[in-house]
Amino acid sequence: MWNVDQSYIGGRFVPTVGDEVVDIVSPVTEAVIGRARLANGEDARRAIAAAKQAQPAFARATKAERIALLERLQMAMLAHADEIRDATIQEYGGPVARSQWVANFASQCFGDAARLLPTYAFERPAGLDGVSTLVMEPVGVSGLYAPWNATAGTMASKLAAAIAAGCASVVKPSELSPLQAEVFTRALHQADLPPGVVNVVTGRGIDAGAEIGTHPDVVKLSFTGSTPTGKLIARAAVDTMKRVSLALTGKSASLVLDDADLASAIPLAIGTAFMNSGQACVAGTRLLVPRARMDEVIERVRAAVAALKVGDPADPATMVGPMVSRAQYDRIQHFIRRGLEQGATLIAGGEGRPEGLARGWFVRPTVFADVRNDMDIAREEIFGPVLSIIPVDSEEDAIAIANDSPYGLHAYVFSTDSFHAGRVAARLQAGTVLINRVAPDLLAPFGGVKQSGVGREFGVAGLEAFLEPKTITRG
Ligand code: NAD
Repeated sequence: MWNVDQSYIGGRFVPTVGDEVVDIVSPVTEAVIGRARLANGEDARRAIAAAKQAQPAFARATKAERIALLERLQMAMLAHADEIRDATIQEYGGPVARSQWVANFASQCFGDAARLLPTYAFERPAGLDGVSTLVMEPVGVSGLYAPWNATAGTMASKLAAAIAAGCASVVKPSELSPLQAEVFTRALHQADLPPGVVNVVTGRGIDAGAEIGTHPDVVKLSFTGSTPTGKLIARAAVDTMKRVSLALTGKSASLVLDDADLASAIPLAIGTAFMNSGQACVAGTRLLVPRARMDEVIERVRAAVAALKVGDPADPATMVGPMVSRAQYDRIQHFIRRGLEQGATLIAGGEGRPEGLARGWFVRPTVFADVRNDMDIAREEIFGPVLSIIPVDSEEDAIAIANDSPYGLHAYVFSTDSFHAGRVAARLQAGTVLINRVAPDLLAPFGGVKQSGVGREFGVAGLEAFLEPKTITRG
């Protein structure tokens, strides 16, 4: 049995003062595998005070000192990658391949930030008359919010940028991921950080989260989670004019162009739709297909989905594990019913649990054809393994449908002609367009347009999200 009852404040694990204790429930067996005491507003205030105390000295740390710190974090994370992977599998049922990727990614984030710093100019000329210098200063104490579906990856990518910039942080992982947060923080502690540079309080959004989001000593918020929560965060932040970066909900489109090679495109499209058991912000959940190629696509999709192994997330053959919770299971059942009610054609999966899995929050990988873009299953982020295939009459139609969404995180384009794909990519409203691939470039900016977010993470753009430009002009 796991027992998570400490917060990480001022470089030490200290007892969490919040009095709410929740069960950690295995999504595979529905058994209680641990308990977690949730941090409250008081824990958050203590963490903010520790970060505030650490901030002035950390802002003066040299580039070489920050690089050394990032490299120590990279090594510490690498040394604990297997534990991070296992916590991810146990706590929310992340399939092993995905969980391993996230664990390795956590280490890589720190390595990438260390690689970025040597060539980044924190001071550079500004204006055109040679009288001004631009100084990129650390923005200050930062509140970092992580969702449950990417805990280690989100904590690492935000912390790497904050540390590279010289910002002390308070991290607020989701109340659904206390175990992953604990394992990650124990790894981080091995890197011997200056006390208070990183503080971690795992608690509810409305309590610890809201405290960080409104506290006057926090000047920057970097949030990853759903769009409704992102709006609450942004509204609350404006009173103290915090700088806010938001990485939010997605409903990404995969466009199969008329010249696509279906043998390679469909496996990739299925891979992105059912990535992380469909619990991925970047999942390509709307597959846009020219009518003339629909029959062939449906045949290939049926075969690919039939071959997806659903079950124990610790089994390397498993592609689709359980949903994180009963609530998420119910939500997906609701959307499958909505798809049927609104007239979509079920071509794979459907309501209920997969055969042979009587226990656990497993759902059947589900695909609907004949979906119209105004149906709920095409408009809302389901956050489970449910794919909507939408027929298109022309490339113009495909682009219009892809862009007809309140969201714009990722888009995927499949074509045998990369110039053709590039012309389509130029017209898509998305933070990232991936052509004939589903793996992102991790040093390139990542983020969403429209209601998928504000700002970018990764690379120079991610670093600059934690910097404030100051102009010095000489007479
Ligand atoms: P969520 O919005 O429910 O929670 C995210 C975080 O915000 C959690 O730490 C939560 O405790 C906190 N929170 C909730 N209410 C709060 C409040 N009122 N004040 C302050 N903090 C609050 O999201 P989730 O269910 O944990 O994660 C899934 C969502 O995250 C999906 O919509 C997914 O698309 C999105 N997501 C986006 C990205 C991205 O990079 N764009 C990455 C991963 C997940």
